[in-house]
Amino acid sequence: MNSPKACIKHISLVLLFLFGCQKYNADLEEAKNTILSNDLTTDIQILASDDFEGRSPSSAGEEKTVEFLKQEFTKLGLHPGNGDSFFQQVPLVAISTNPEAELMVRSRDDFSTFAYKNEFMAWTKRVVGKSSIKRSEMVFVGYGVKAPEYDWNDYEGLDVSGKTVVILVNDPGYATQNDSLFNGNAMTYYGRWTYKFEEAARQGATGAFIIHETEAAGYPWEVVSGSWSGKQFGLVSDDNNMARCAVEGWLTWDGAQKMFALSGKDLPALKQTAQEAGFKPVPLALWANLSLENDIEHSRSKNVIAILPGQTRPDEAVFYTAHWDHFGKVGGMDGDNIFNGAVDNATGTAALIELAEAFTALEQKPARSIVLLAVTAEEQGLLGSSYYATHPVFPTNKTVAAINIDAMNVIGKMNDITVVGYGNSELDDYVARAAKKQNRLVRPDPVPEKGYFYRSDHFNFAKVGVPALYTDPGVDHVEHGEAWSREQLDKYTAEKYHKATDEYDANWDLTGAIDDLRLLFEVGYHLSNDADFPTWRAGTEFKAIREADMQSTASQGTQ
Ligand SMILES: [Zn+2]
Repeated sequence: MNSPKACIKHISLVLLFLFGCQKYNADLEEAKNTILSNDLTTDIQILASDDFEGRSPSSAGEEKTVEFLKQEFTKLGLHPGNGDSFFQQVPLVAISTNPEAELMVRSRDDFSTFAYKNEFMAWTKRVVGKSSIKRSEMVFVGYGVKAPEYDWNDYEGLDVSGKTVVILVNDPGYATQNDSLFNGNAMTYYGRWTYKFEEAARQGATGAFIIHETEAAGYPWEVVSGSWSGKQFGLVSDDNNMARCAVEGWLTWDGAQKMFALSGKDLPALKQTAQEAGFKPVPLALWANLSLENDIEHSRSKNVIAILPGQTRPDEAVFYTAHWDHFGKVGGMDGDNIFNGAVDNATGTAALIELAEAFTALEQKPARSIVLLAVTAEEQGLLGSSYYATHPVFPTNKTVAAINIDAMNVIGKMNDITVVGYGNSELDDYVARAAKKQNRLVRPDPVPEKGYFYRSDHFNFAKVGVPALYTDPGVDHVEHGEAWSREQLDKYTAEKYHKATDEYDANWDLTGAIDDLRLLFEVGYHLSNDADFPTWRAGTEFKAIREADMQSTASQGTQ
């Protein structure tokens, strides 16, 4: 381009581009500035009020919550996200297992019994009154992992139908601290107990037990025995969850040692072999017997889905998610027995309304659709988001990304922002770009071995391949610095997290939450106007799932 004419044309194109950009930026900035702490406060106060009864699924508090959201989204002119309804029905089931259960294991010439709660926990996800394993052959399958990206298959050459598999917790990367193996110290999905039961079921096992270890699990046995006794909430699939193992459970380390010793096997030695590539499953020459009796209660709850349709590519969507539910009213307590869940997650739910408002304030509406999804039953095991992800309104391969908000910052402005699961996807770059404008540093999750990436609703999107973003407030307060911030966060965890004391407080400073929301708005804004789909980085456990999904043209948009 060296003729004067071409040059003038070139310059005017550049000017047009710059002018266009400026307009684009001004529109973005103005919309962003509609995100204000007064508005956010009002909505949090409503959602966290005693009137909403702690927002338990299937309660009067649920009705108030979902109606409030519907009303706010309607006021903003958003469209119902599920046909002509703002709601998606989520079928829930609560199963209570009779605690009298006894596990009996035989070897060729001996047997041993194991005590419920002290040596093992067991339950079934199958929606049946009785579920059992009888003379089920036991096999040690190491970490119980089938991971093509690591060329690793603990089930190699094994037919487990009718059998009971015994599995180590966490993954070989954690056990060996070898960075080239399963992301080293950081937990991968293969380390989560949820994965291990799912894989055992996919393999066709009848029973599956995970061996508990405090360090590798991240919590003591009391957490296992406490959280797996009493009512267990779950989703109900069309087959009444019959595709799951008949019995799932945990063994204490000591219980497992006692069990292995019955047939002369050494658990620590077997654990060692399981950490090496090429591990082969080990038949234990043991047979398990266990019978469970269950009480079953069915109920229904709702996800709330609102859409701002895209201008030019409405069939492609950027999602914002937040769980609206919390624990409700809890009996047998003195004084205030309402778990208001103000931080967790009235803040995130209110944030969806603020984000919706900002997107509707844009002069030039996004090219892609924006979806606000408030999910139910997160506290019972990410159930609402799991239901959505397996019954999506937008096909997963048209879902550009999911941005999740769970418990916002109430202590003021931060110099940084934490990306939980940093390094997983290109969404990090979108965060970095928006954070730079706020002069904030992007930090990775400080405790990746705890697996927080797998513990909120965005994870159910990751599981079906959709790139998912989950940020935490950061740990460096603008005025008070890092030590003070960590102290505040620890204090919240000790005194308020999942307690009746998680209430709205007029002393909150929401300026940091507003920064976060404006940042997440900007991330979604760019995603909704970009042409490409952000991808998972090489080595993540979700990359292959996404690539296969992007290639499939089969429509999945059904409820
Ligand atoms: Zn939460």
